[in-house]
Amino acid sequence: MTMEGHKDYIVRATAAGNQVRAFAATTDEVVEMARKAHNTSPVATAALGRLLTGGAMMGVMMKGDKDLLTLQIKAGGPLQGITVTADSHGNVKGYVGNPNVCIPANKKGKLDVASAVGVGFLNVIKDMGLKEPYIGQTTLQTSEIAEDLTYYFATSEQVPSAVGLGVLMNKNNTVAQAGGFIVQLMPFAEEKVIAKLEKNVAGITSVTALLEQGHTPESLLETVLEGLDVEINERIPTQFYCNCSKERVTRALISVGKKELQDMIKEGKEVEMNCHFCNTNYTFSVEELKQLLSHCK
Ligand SMILES: [Zn+2]
Repeated sequence: MTMEGHKDYIVRATAAGNQVRAFAATTDEVVEMARKAHNTSPVATAALGRLLTGGAMMGVMMKGDKDLLTLQIKAGGPLQGITVTADSHGNVKGYVGNPNVCIPANKKGKLDVASAVGVGFLNVIKDMGLKEPYIGQTTLQTSEIAEDLTYYFATSEQVPSAVGLGVLMNKNNTVAQAGGFIVQLMPFAEEKVIAKLEKNVAGITSVTALLEQGHTPESLLETVLEGLDVEINERIPTQFYCNCSKERVTRALISVGKKELQDMIKEGKEVEMNCHFCNTNYTFSVEELKQLLSHCK
């Protein structure tokens, strides 16, 4: 499944010489595509959309062509967790445990992402083609997702960061705007740069409000890094993309084993396999199952 058009993109930037590195993204279509694929409720769309946006940016932070990033939120709220996977080229996909969550708005009258997510952990898994993937686990701080990624960067990667993520819905519950930024201080950043950045970040009360003003990734960074000489280095298109196919699902089905396949054939019913990431169903007829069985050793 691929998005048509390339309205969504990520920018990679530096500021204050190279003392700050920064990423910003607009992800309206990414999040709308995810909403449609999973038929998510508004609060589920907001939660998934925030993690997809953060994941897309963290994906392009990886250096290797084939590097893969997975963000897992495992928490006790009614959303039953979120999983997002991104590559280093702007492709991102993801799902929530329970897409139908409906809970009352929070005290500010906003979608209550924190209560939907609940208390738990964030796992950051980076598969960089080494024997073992890198795994960082941190406790969720607010369950609003942006603050949880900020905490992850500070504790697991020891990089002081500011993360802002937002999803704005239309009245008909489709996605109006989505996007965000990640700004990081390099170890040699001077005091006055740190102070200026802290002041700028403190002045941003809501990313959604910024998105509502119609910001591009470039202008988002101009706002967050105001007075710090932003230099945009790269623009990377981003999209909701799942690389599943009947062939891949077939391989998974063969790997369940001869005995299980025989049982399925005995049942005499077609078998449906679902891709969690994009919610596509693949159907296998009894005849197809018999063919698969002949490929099993
Ligand atoms: Zn898929």
